[in-house]
Amino acid sequence: MKGKVVLLGTSSAMPTPERNNSGIFLQYKGKGFLFDCGEGINRQIMKAGLNIYSLDYIFISHLHTDHTLGLTGVIETLDMHDKSRIKIFSPSGIGDFLKCFFDRFYTPEIKVDTKELKLEDRPFTVLDHLEFNIFAVRLNHLVECIGFSFVEKPKRRFIKEKIEELKLKTEDFKILREKGYIKKDGKIITEEEITEEVKGFKFTYIPDTYKTDNIIKLAKDSDILVIECTYLDEEEKAKKYGHLTLEYILEIAPELNCRKIVLTHFSKRYKNPEKFGERIKKADAGNIILGEDFMSFYF
Ligand SMILES: [Zn+2]
Ligand SMILES: [Zn+2]
Repeated sequence: MKGKVVLLGTSSAMPTPERNNSGIFLQYKGKGFLFDCGEGINRQIMKAGLNIYSLDYIFISHLHTDHTLGLTGVIETLDMHDKSRIKIFSPSGIGDFLKCFFDRFYTPEIKVDTKELKLEDRPFTVLDHLEFNIFAVRLNHLVECIGFSFVEKPKRRFIKEKIEELKLKTEDFKILREKGYIKKDGKIITEEEITEEVKGFKFTYIPDTYKTDNIIKLAKDSDILVIECTYLDEEEKAKKYGHLTLEYILEIAPELNCRKIVLTHFSKRYKNPEKFGERIKKADAGNIILGEDFMSFYF
């Protein structure tokens, strides 16, 4: 197991006794990534048994309070543990939001790097790491809002049949590693010929948005897509408040081609979103599930 994705909050504007405001924790090889930080996320991280001090990056989709109110608490917790720095990516405004708090109420020693992103309509790179990329795209909400993808870089794997066919031995692999090719019976065999590319894990988070093609551009072929689904089929409300309906998600699901689609950010008007489950069943969309707080996905 390389990592896991944990839902920390699945309610929209207001928390409910069952559902916290938005937050998703991604753990990958000891590194922690937090996507959105609504009220109560600090405690949700602890309740989920996650290591808050492993957090290196926080990605804020937009500045509505149901996605940001927990931020100062998380920073204070990190500060108390003498963590030296945290990097926050967000649309514009996060700097002012934090400065107001830091200037007047709490001055942390931790270095808080904020990067305000310039939004684009095609997926752009936010972070290019040796082992993964973070991509982002503009969404269609009432304020500037961003969707994020974590994509593990592809790796090459030996093709078992080819290795057996060529009867490769340990010393052959050593030469292959050093030179990138080996000589077998007078023939040159390159690494490319006997390896294949294996796609890395892809996680996408689509927070608050109304319909936009940018969702598909970013989320296509994800292993796990966590997507806002504030309404069941109230199209007028969805358009007015900049949200999605389950009907729209069902419509684009074939093109999204995701292994698993996890719905989140349910409106509090649905005390129990079982109607969503019934509609999904009717549509026979087996890869779509209703998110719940603390639901975890391992990869
Ligand atoms: Zn929201
Ligand atoms: Zn919002």
